[in-house]
Amino acid sequence: MIVYLLLILVLLFFLGMAIGSFLNVIIYRMVNGDSALRGRSYCDNCKQKIAWYDNIPVLSFILLHRKCRYCGMPIPWEYPAVEFLTGSLFVWWYLMGFTFFHLTSRPFLIVQPVFWLCIGIILLVIFFADFSYAIIPDSAVFIMGLLSLTYHFFLTSHHVMMQSDFALTLITAGGAGLFFFLLHVLTKGKGMGLGDVKYSIAMGLLLGWPDTLVGLFVAFILGSIVGIIAILLSKKKLGSRIPFGPFLVLGTIIALLWGSQLVTMYLRLL
Ligand SMILES: [Zn+2]
Repeated sequence: MIVYLLLILVLLFFLGMAIGSFLNVIIYRMVNGDSALRGRSYCDNCKQKIAWYDNIPVLSFILLHRKCRYCGMPIPWEYPAVEFLTGSLFVWWYLMGFTFFHLTSRPFLIVQPVFWLCIGIILLVIFFADFSYAIIPDSAVFIMGLLSLTYHFFLTSHHVMMQSDFALTLITAGGAGLFFFLLHVLTKGKGMGLGDVKYSIAMGLLLGWPDTLVGLFVAFILGSIVGIIAILLSKKKLGSRIPFGPFLVLGTIIALLWGSQLVTMYLRLL
């Protein structure tokens, strides 16, 4: 039994890494608006076609000593990071599935795990798109918002989620969007980009109340800490922009995993 489980986990890890390799292409194309089949099949620098043996997730990065075989241009570390994290996401998702995804009736057995895997992948894409290119892709945010809305609508229509909670989720999404839009206007677009505004709406649809508040709170704390460290190390001048998307994604993940615990902890402090 344990051998069987290990085999599944190893296979899922490699499947996840292969999908991660594909995600790198998708991220590249989302932010560059490139419709041709480019991205990781060609070197970003010398445009030399990358052979399959130089395009194996994570392994090629190590074997090539982080450099393009032809022009020696360093390969961004984000590429193997996305591959490794996607592989890990698949393994973690499967392990979690054993404990968390035993829901009531049949359709949920498929819908719920598939939904959360998709959300995991989308969060990874948004994190690295904003981290590497300072762009939160509209399409990724749109899919995240639409999936969350449909999922919660599905739960409500099957009486798993209460109608009042569904309404509260919609209000939370609208409120989060309005709050970020005001930040965007007040900072004249320097503090928050429109990408952050759109993301906050999708985040509200995914997390609902009060987890959205937890996620935003965590995002602002993490963003401030990293911002202060960056200024102290004088890597960034005061007022220069650090993409906020990665912090929003981290806040979302922390709220998803420990939202209710954090709310209870906070209420106890009061
Ligand atoms: Zn090259």
